Amino acid sequence: MRHRLLAVAAFAAATAMTARAQSPASVTPERLVAEAKRAAGLDHPGTFLRICVAPDNLNAGPRPPPPTGPRTVPDRGTWYAAPYKVFDDFYFVGTRIHSAWALTTRDGIVVIDTLFDYASEPEIVDGLTALGLDPRNIKYVLISHAHGDHDQGAALLQSRYGAKVVMGAADWDATLERPATAAGGVPKRDITVGSEGTKITLGGTTIDVIATPGHTRGTLSYIFPVHDKGRTLTVAYAGGTAFNFPREAQNFAIYRDSQKKMGGAARAAGATVLMTNHSEFDRAYDRARLAQLPRAAGEKHPYETDAATVQRYFEMSGLCAEAQRLSMESAN
Ligand SMILES: [Zn+2]
Repeated sequence: MRHRLLAVAAFAAATAMTARAQSPASVTPERLVAEAKRAAGLDHPGTFLRICVAPDNLNAGPRPPPPTGPRTVPDRGTWYAAPYKVFDDFYFVGTRIHSAWALTTRDGIVVIDTLFDYASEPEIVDGLTALGLDPRNIKYVLISHAHGDHDQGAALLQSRYGAKVVMGAADWDATLERPATAAGGVPKRDITVGSEGTKITLGGTTIDVIATPGHTRGTLSYIFPVHDKGRTLTVAYAGGTAFNFPREAQNFAIYRDSQKKMGGAARAAGATVLMTNHSEFDRAYDRARLAQLPRAAGEKHPYETDAATVQRYFEMSGLCAEAQRLSMESAN
């Protein structure tokens, strides 16, 4: 028996040494993608497919330029979603594709992300009203990043209701360069978040705003509480996902480091709910509808997972970014 134990220990030590000896040489982009696939499991397929698998995966060619010229508003039937109460104090006011949320507190409402301009009035303003909430109580508008699908409603909520718009420093700079004729208009600078992040507190609820540059230079992610039938759950909200930034190794390193930072913040806060701002990544529209159905005793909320599942999200997104960075480095 003692011999067997010694043999097992020796084998384990030898294996560990081999793994150590091999690891620097054997870390390849493909291996990182395989690790990311394991981390994603069946919990995070949308984001994994988008950033680790074709057409955005390794060796992706140059991208087509963004469309120019007058923008057409897509047919309402393709995007409109009814508003839903999802937690005791958290409401879905997004489209089927893009998420916008209202976090209610005793002193007013925090809106997270604001959709394209064509959707912000029917989804956010009319949605809140339909849910029995008053859009005049919107105090803060948090913009995860300055891309039109998340920020075009900001100027409307600011000018009509006096809400304070919160954005990352680099994204404010980009926003303020837009012409006044930009879709949805241009919000005025309110609260600028630097690399150190900030906390927004309203009515006793605090949102930890974390700078996670990568998707854009000013991307913000959030940690905040919601309540499920009175029980507090902590949300980790990833503010930027796709790799549609300039394809430079350094940008992937910045993105990778932000995933690690956000994963650490989520772990420290004990987050068991993972959210992003596209249904493609977190199935927000599906989960919002599932949340309307009765639950059996002890059955979890459709958005609730566990701390490890939330960790695997950021592990996966960091690995996908590192795979891209490494593939660019080895191509040089
Ligand atoms: Zn974006």
